[in-house]
Amino acid sequence: MQIFDSIKKMQEWSLQARKQGKSIGLVPTMGYLHDGHLSLVQAARRNCDLVVVSIFVNPLQFGQGEDFEDYPRDLSRDTDLLADAGVDAVFAPAAREMYPAGFSSSVEVSGEITRKMCGISRPGHFKGVTTVCTKLFHACMPDKAFFGQKDAQQLLIIKKMVRELNFPLEIIRVPIVREHDGLALSSRNVYLDAGQRQEALALNKALSQAKEQIAGGERDIARLKDRISGIITASPQAEIDYIEIVNGEDLSELEAVDGIVLIAVAVKFGKTRLIDNLLVEV
Ligand code: AMP
Repeated sequence: MQIFDSIKKMQEWSLQARKQGKSIGLVPTMGYLHDGHLSLVQAARRNCDLVVVSIFVNPLQFGQGEDFEDYPRDLSRDTDLLADAGVDAVFAPAAREMYPAGFSSSVEVSGEITRKMCGISRPGHFKGVTTVCTKLFHACMPDKAFFGQKDAQQLLIIKKMVRELNFPLEIIRVPIVREHDGLALSSRNVYLDAGQRQEALALNKALSQAKEQIAGGERDIARLKDRISGIITASPQAEIDYIEIVNGEDLSELEAVDGIVLIAVAVKFGKTRLIDNLLVEV
């Protein structure tokens, strides 16, 4: 497995691979890998000849007072896991390689899709995400890039950017991987103490119950949100950031549950902010 920290070297490797007719699958990550990331790697291996995983904790997507400094990092553990998983190349640039002094460009998707949900609580976050993904796509030149449904809003924003700006690649959605008890895997789960870890199960429980209620015929969004809120606030440390039930393809508002629907929550437990979601089709 090759490890690159230079954009130029990464591009040379990708160009060479493409010249040989090999397809490249990219899995962008911020590292501290878990089985959720590895399921993206497996999807990339199934779909492409070569797999590149990028590991970059992107300063542009963290706001003031967020956890950029504390974000867990362990590059040697990550590269061991990726070598075992059969990855062909890792792209792990330093921040100064991605953003040299004087860097002042950005790529931004505007409109309702970026203005709601995490766009409200994390101003500038998605602009940081679309800017770094643009740079990662240019460095790694993938035919397909794999993103987790865990970050549902991010996935839809990147799909929109790729479509509207004619990036020559396809975005592939990979389902959420959960712990045996239902907690969605996240690099941030390491921040939770034992009590918070237990309380965080309320997210999946609330989403699953909403899904059951929809299956049972419930279509009223306010009532569904109330019940989700009731389940989550039963956990004493939970502080709800948002509960949204929106169109699952473009995040637009719905009058009632209909079509492909995304139920998404963001909840803080102490300093740790967790997100989770569920797609339902009626
Ligand atoms: P991150 O390292 O948190 O930026 O995540 C990198 C990629 O892994 C993103 O596309 C995430 O959506 C995806 N991902 C994170 N957690 C999970 C999970 N539990 N299941 C599936 N994909 C995930």
